[in-house]
Amino acid sequence: MNRLMALSAFIVICILSWLVWPGPGVPILAYHQISEADDIYSVTAAQFEEQMSYLQDKGYTAISLEQLYYYYNGKISLPDKPIIITFDDGYEDNLLAALPIMEKYNMRSTVFVVSGLVGTSEYLSWQQIAEMQVRHTEIGSHTVSHISLGDTSPDQQRREVIDSKAILEQHVGSVKFFAYPFGQFTPITEEILREAGYLGACSGIAGLNPKGVDTYALKRVNVPHPKYGLGEFRLRLLRANIYSKLGI
Ligand SMILES: [Zn+2]
Repeated sequence: MNRLMALSAFIVICILSWLVWPGPGVPILAYHQISEADDIYSVTAAQFEEQMSYLQDKGYTAISLEQLYYYYNGKISLPDKPIIITFDDGYEDNLLAALPIMEKYNMRSTVFVVSGLVGTSEYLSWQQIAEMQVRHTEIGSHTVSHISLGDTSPDQQRREVIDSKAILEQHVGSVKFFAYPFGQFTPITEEILREAGYLGACSGIAGLNPKGVDTYALKRVNVPHPKYGLGEFRLRLLRANIYSKLGI
C-alpha cells in the first residue's frame, strides 16, 4: 500500500511539474489603459512597472507580432523567452504612462488603434502614434468604431476591417495585425481579414501561441486591474501555460 501511495504521489508530482514547466507557446499580454483609474481595464503605473520588472528579471524579451509571424513561417528565430505586450483601443496613456516604463525595462509593444477614435479625448493623436512608432511600437487595427464583429453583417464587418486599415495606413505605413473588439469574431471575419491583407489577429481566448496556431485567432493573457498584486499576474501567465499544455 505504501509503495502504491509513493507511486501515486510521484505520478502527481510529474504531472504538476509538466503542467507548470514553460510550454513552447508565446504569451501575448492584453492591456488597455495604464492609469490610476479604479477600473477593471486599468492597470496603475506602479503595477505595470512591477510587471515589466518581473518580465525582465525572468529573462523575457518583448517581440512584435510581425516577428512572431515570420518565426511561424520559418524565416527567423526568436529569443529564448519571447513575449508580446499588446494594448487595445489606443489610449493616450499608452504613450504617456506605459512607454517610458517599457523603455526602462527594454520592452516594446503593439497598440491596436480604433481609427475613428484617434485624436478624441483620452485617445492617441496621429502625431502621438507616430512618436510611438519611432519608439519601436507596432501599430495594429482595432476597427473603425469598436463594434462587436461577431454580431455584425459581413458587409459591415468588411467596412470596419478594410476602412480602418486604409485610414491607419495613410498615417502609419503598412498595418498587418488586428485585434477583435470584445474578442468577438466568426469564421467569416477571419476570411475577411485574410482577404484584406492582414497577417493575423488577436482574440480574447486565453492561452499561449505555439507554432501551428491559427494566426487569425491568436490567444492572449488578459491583464486587468490586479486585485492581488504581482502574484495575480504570475498566476495569469501560469494559467495560460497550463491551458496551452492541456490543449484547451
Ligand atoms: Zn477594445
